[in-house]
Amino acid sequence: MAVIHANRNHRRTLVEQMDAAEWSGDNGDMYEVTKSDEQWQAELDPLEYQVLRHAATERPGTGELLHEDRVGVYHCRACGAELFRSTTKFEAHCGWPSFYQPTESDAVELIEDRSLGMVRTEVRCRRCGSHLGHVFDDAPQTPTGDRYCMNSVSLSFEPAEPGSSAGGGSSAQDGSSAGGGAAAEAE
Ligand SMILES: [Zn+2]
Repeated sequence: MAVIHANRNHRRTLVEQMDAAEWSGDNGDMYEVTKSDEQWQAELDPLEYQVLRHAATERPGTGELLHEDRVGVYHCRACGAELFRSTTKFEAHCGWPSFYQPTESDAVELIEDRSLGMVRTEVRCRRCGSHLGHVFDDAPQTPTGDRYCMNSVSLSFEPAEPGSSAGGGSSAQDGSSAGGGAAAEAE
């Protein structure tokens, strides 16, 4: 029916406009991957759930990826999106895995965080909105000066296969990620 068709086109135009505009603050409905709180809780283990979905922080020095130094790619543990490459990981001696730059600047979302009596910049996965950690500009020893201070449990590491170029292009380490339905269109 023509009316419905026109309506659909109109919606698409709206979405594109919103996408082009600056994403700000709480845009819970705009993530590419959205799941109910119950779904996230069922898919993630308790610590992952508390950190990724409720912005908790793992204890410093405890993360399994803290001392990971192999070549490879770091993905969002909630949705599988690529976030960081090992080439930007550095030893910040802060107790959490640290990177100076995401793979793509729009792989993450930066949000002002005024909790705990401080003004910090929260880092979330742009694809699913999960909490990753915070970014600080206190790393002058790096090319960007930034320290993306990430919770290890927010990330999953995929080592590069011998002979391949830093894992580029390969994806979907487990088929269970991103069951959100409307995924798969980006890029
Ligand atoms: Zn994600």
